[in-house]
Amino acid sequence: MKKSFSATLCVLVCSSLVMTACTKNDSKEAPVDSSDASGTVTLKMVAPKASLSPGYGEMEIFKRLEQQTNVHVDWTNIPDTDYKDKKNLLIASGDLPDAFYGADFSDYELVTYGKDGTIIPLEKLIEENAPNFSKLLKDRPDIKAAITAPDGHIYGLPIWEENELGTNPFFHVINKKWLDKLGLKVPETLDEYTNALLVFKNNDPNGNGKKDEIPLTYMNGWWCADIAGLFGAFGMPDNQDHRIVRGGKVIFTAVQPEFKEALKYFSEKWYKQGLIDPEAFTQKDAQYLAKGKTPNETVGSFIWWDNDGEYTGPNRVNDYVFLPPLTGPTGERTVGRANGGGPSRGAFVITKANKNPDATMKWVDAQYEPYMAAQIHWGPIGVVFEKDANGKLINLPLPSGVAMGEFRQKVAPNAVGVVTKNDFETIVDMEPRAKARKNALLKYYEPYMEKENYPNIFFQPDELDKINQIEPDLKKFVDSQRANFIIEGVTDAAWDNYVKQVKAMGLDELMAVYQKGLDRYKIAQK
Ligand code: CA
Repeated sequence: MKKSFSATLCVLVCSSLVMTACTKNDSKEAPVDSSDASGTVTLKMVAPKASLSPGYGEMEIFKRLEQQTNVHVDWTNIPDTDYKDKKNLLIASGDLPDAFYGADFSDYELVTYGKDGTIIPLEKLIEENAPNFSKLLKDRPDIKAAITAPDGHIYGLPIWEENELGTNPFFHVINKKWLDKLGLKVPETLDEYTNALLVFKNNDPNGNGKKDEIPLTYMNGWWCADIAGLFGAFGMPDNQDHRIVRGGKVIFTAVQPEFKEALKYFSEKWYKQGLIDPEAFTQKDAQYLAKGKTPNETVGSFIWWDNDGEYTGPNRVNDYVFLPPLTGPTGERTVGRANGGGPSRGAFVITKANKNPDATMKWVDAQYEPYMAAQIHWGPIGVVFEKDANGKLINLPLPSGVAMGEFRQKVAPNAVGVVTKNDFETIVDMEPRAKARKNALLKYYEPYMEKENYPNIFFQPDELDKINQIEPDLKKFVDSQRANFIIEGVTDAAWDNYVKQVKAMGLDELMAVYQKGLDRYKIAQK
């Protein structure tokens, strides 16, 4: 696999000089060959399609777009499961369409194919033909920074829904029914929380005469069920990557003194007193989710993406309430912010075979107009949406017996376009479940959340190689050691040895790559 890719790469690189020369000449030719007498331009595009999609040629939204732009697209739709392989074959064969739509180009591909001329830089085309997209970049320099390659070019256009639902995936929940029964208030400090867990353990709150209560359960390292959010009580709020940003500086949390203090607390106060579910370190999601729904209510406190019944089941959901971040022993009260979350940037690319790049850019730019972007994401007005009195798109009732996700595949390509935070206020309504989570985030967590995070940065291929070489093993080691420290306790000698090992695995080198990427990103935003 690796070998054949290198061979392909070599062919591409070897012919890159010829390709670049061709591109330059092509741009001087008059774009007459694919434009008919009525002024309609025909473009060939390759796009993946979801399994229930009828094919883009059949979709209402593209018919409307053709009328609006005078651009007709000859679609080659590839089933999305085969797309990556077929896309690579097409590129290797040199049989290029005018553009890839819903292109799903990785950063590595954007830079490699941008450098060898297979796809063309877009920034000048944007400036001259894309009023909607230009406005977006002007309003949102962060989006511009996110899509600009390390060499300063823009090779791909983005897709993004800025709903910010993932800033804190770890909602911390406690059994309010038990608190009430035992005469306890909802904890505000870590020590009050520890006390509540102890009382849960010892006072039989489910009233069955057995000591079957699980004071706190979670899943070690799991994306939405980990205790990463609780480290903030010690002043070093964590996230899944153990990588945070403060004042523009990248910090690896899991070797900091605050992190050590947190582990000491969790080990001494919780694990050694039997307050943590021993299966927290090994259980899979099915086992974890089943605990919330046992015939006898046994869970005192848990961590999950939401408190909407997915964990507890619908009958018990009102027994539980959210716990905002707890104040730690030294008065710290913070919670981590997840990294990344920016736009995905390889959603649309124009190839060197394209004789009408201006018309192509105009066509795709129409899909960055906010109302059209919403329809590209979810489906057309009159089919999925109607406009309310304020001009906001609200959902029409679904056809009977059809699930939202399925209907979306049939009526929306969901392939390009940006729906910003602001658009969710004024242009298009969020679906109800998303709205509820968003409100809980704003109410309970956002006021205490770290202000910065590590953005979804565009790395150079050599940087990506370095990250992939160091990070997976290092993170695996840190997560397993974190569990060990909680179970075994934290001695100074064991801690020092652990830090030494993490450094030996390449921590400083890894952080240098991340810092360099962040510095470059900050410059691009200016
Ligand atoms: Ca009991």
